[in-house]
Amino acid sequence: MQNYQDAMAICRWAGFPDLFITFTVNPKWPEMTRFLEARQLRIEDRPDIVTRIFKMKIDLLIKDIRKEEIFGSVKAVLYTIEFQKQGLPHAHILVFLANKDKLSTAKDIDNIISAEIPDKEAQPELHDVVVNYMLHGPCGIANPHSPCMDKGICTKQFPKNFNSTTVIHEDGYPRYKRKDNGVHVMKNGIPLDNRYVIPYNITLLLKYGAHINVERCNQGDSIKYLFKYVNKGYDRVTAAFYTQADDVSEGLVHDEIKMFFDCRYVSSCESVWRILGFDINYRNPFVERLSFHLPNHQMVVFEENEDLQDVMSRNNGKPTMFEAWFIANAKYENAKGLTYSEFPMKFTYHKDTCEWTPRKKGFSIERMYYTPPGSGESYYLRMLLATIKGPTSYKSLRTVNGVYHNSFRDACYALGLLDDDKEYTDAILEAA
Ligand SMILES: [Zn+2]
Repeated sequence: MQNYQDAMAICRWAGFPDLFITFTVNPKWPEMTRFLEARQLRIEDRPDIVTRIFKMKIDLLIKDIRKEEIFGSVKAVLYTIEFQKQGLPHAHILVFLANKDKLSTAKDIDNIISAEIPDKEAQPELHDVVVNYMLHGPCGIANPHSPCMDKGICTKQFPKNFNSTTVIHEDGYPRYKRKDNGVHVMKNGIPLDNRYVIPYNITLLLKYGAHINVERCNQGDSIKYLFKYVNKGYDRVTAAFYTQADDVSEGLVHDEIKMFFDCRYVSSCESVWRILGFDINYRNPFVERLSFHLPNHQMVVFEENEDLQDVMSRNNGKPTMFEAWFIANAKYENAKGLTYSEFPMKFTYHKDTCEWTPRKKGFSIERMYYTPPGSGESYYLRMLLATIKGPTSYKSLRTVNGVYHNSFRDACYALGLLDDDKEYTDAILEAA
């Protein structure tokens, strides 16, 4: 859930995502084949090589999007790495463009996304990569066993219709330009035309030579993208053990009980990805998770067999992230005008020294840990934190117009935060 909430924090700040990109490893990348062929290895022999090369490529691709602005200026980017059953990684990327560069017209879309087979004479290189990586099928009657087929229908809805121009349909989905111009290529003896092209971006396709599907997001489906792709759970396999038929015929005891195991499936590439500490969930801008706690309720981490005195002295005098915020409020003049949530915009937290210092560059988005309404004082503390600017202690948080209150709840009352149904409205809005 943490990843999903981070992604939602980005949405709240950046608005709807504009582009959805799927980037898949190409097992034939020359960097890989050069290495593997020289040593007579197969790709599955060296998951570390695959993983490192893919990581380098995705880093570069994110740089092309963010820094080089190949789609225009970018507010936020997030991606999630997934590992297919066969083990090769791919990335699902969401791009949030700045308002001035949103893809609002068909022409804007045409500038970024193509869905046609390029002319072989005029653009031979592009033609080859599209034919190699961006054609769907054959499926349908010609190949009913294609993995995309379910009950005789292509689940990816290919072939698409021919369209003479790109149009944004009322349902919010674009229909990309796919001209009925007779251009086709043969795959396994089946002719595939523009109706079978998976939408792509010319620049990315030529540069990375891999399957890179670029689609314009339908705003109404933003939540679907976040849930389905960004918050995806682990692949699971169900392993079952059976007694063999031979055992029965030989009169051995046949146990009807089958043991089923719900196992977490980790491919070799995924193992390497995790061992090397690469991001599975990348977010830019960074989402700072703000922790807070009631007085003397800070979390202390210790080993099972540690001496309690040692634990106490180790943590003694070290402020938590939250207490460090009080200290910064007392120290910096420009901290006084900010709530806790607003703080990461202007200040950076240093884990090693447990202190907040004025931010030199960039900024991050905040997300305060969620507290359910039933959790008593910490719920009211969180409510105060959303309102009060620059407090220097718990005491100052509870002091409203010069009057000290005995609980955070009373302070909320004094501030008028609990006068009407606001408390409930806010809780419902937050949950929504
Ligand atoms: Zn299909």
